[in-house]
Amino acid sequence: LAGWGGWVYDGGMIIGKTIEAVRSAVAEARVAGRSIHFVPTMGALHEGHLSLVRAARGPGRFVVVSIFVNPTQFGPNEDLAQYPRPIEADLEKCRAEDVDLVYLPPVEAIYPEGFCTTVHVAGVTEHLCGAHRPGHFDGVTTVVAKLLNIVQPDVAYFGQKDAQQAAAIGRMVADLNMPVSIAVCPTVREPDGLALSSRNAYLGEAERKQARSLYAALRAGEDAIAHGERDAAGVTAVMRRHIEQAGPCRIDYVEVAEPATMRPVVRIAGPVVLAVAVRIGDARLIDNLPVDVPADGG
Ligand code: AMP
Repeated sequence: LAGWGGWVYDGGMIIGKTIEAVRSAVAEARVAGRSIHFVPTMGALHEGHLSLVRAARGPGRFVVVSIFVNPTQFGPNEDLAQYPRPIEADLEKCRAEDVDLVYLPPVEAIYPEGFCTTVHVAGVTEHLCGAHRPGHFDGVTTVVAKLLNIVQPDVAYFGQKDAQQAAAIGRMVADLNMPVSIAVCPTVREPDGLALSSRNAYLGEAERKQARSLYAALRAGEDAIAHGERDAAGVTAVMRRHIEQAGPCRIDYVEVAEPATMRPVVRIAGPVVLAVAVRIGDARLIDNLPVDVPADGG
């Protein structure tokens, strides 16, 4: 990829590096009557990402994928440097999924000298990951606002896997009247339940087995609710036990949250999201499960 300028055609797929290249390709697609469907990612693409691409794809649609490891959403002691960047394999996957345009911005193009604006979504970002990763969601909402302004899609696709992120982005788009629809797609899992994540690559063999405990805990929590448990502490106790019994780990949180606000719930009396974040070895893994509970608490 070295040496190319604003864009290259690559077997029908456009690889755009500059904002101008993306804007002109998108404008051309619009003139041709196509709607614009956008999947922002940090790369190291897996079936979870590709499920978003497949949801984005369709007749008369122009599908844009961005690959950008956004430095501002990583804390100082987090994995920015180690984060996997298999760019050639990612491009191959995009090509195989008939993506129309891959946007690969350099960091300096997104954060040029003098950049000093932050998009902060309050409330939704306070709890769960927001409490454990200071500044993380500001990094996310700021870069997503920028990417939405650059690509100007009709629909942008996000994974339920990152439920709090999706909630924050939904809130931002509503609060700022951004002219885009947000689609949230179901979590894609390994056969044993582990949610696909680029960070699963950090797990050793034994840790990978242990990591099944996150989804097992979510299912156990769901089961407790199905059997009538309405005390959130009762549900989280069951979930914690599953995670702790699986092996050595550090639990960041095990929570029952209200889906729209991501606030912790005390008494379960309507739909909730069960959410966990656990450090196993070098990997910090998150997962969640929406549970539909009748609003009467029944
Ligand atoms: P990331 O590259 O981790 O920033 O993720 C890019 C998008 O893919 C986000 O909207 C994620 O929520 C989504 N995503 C990540 N993992 C999964 C998965 N296992 N299933 C569905 N979507 C996912």
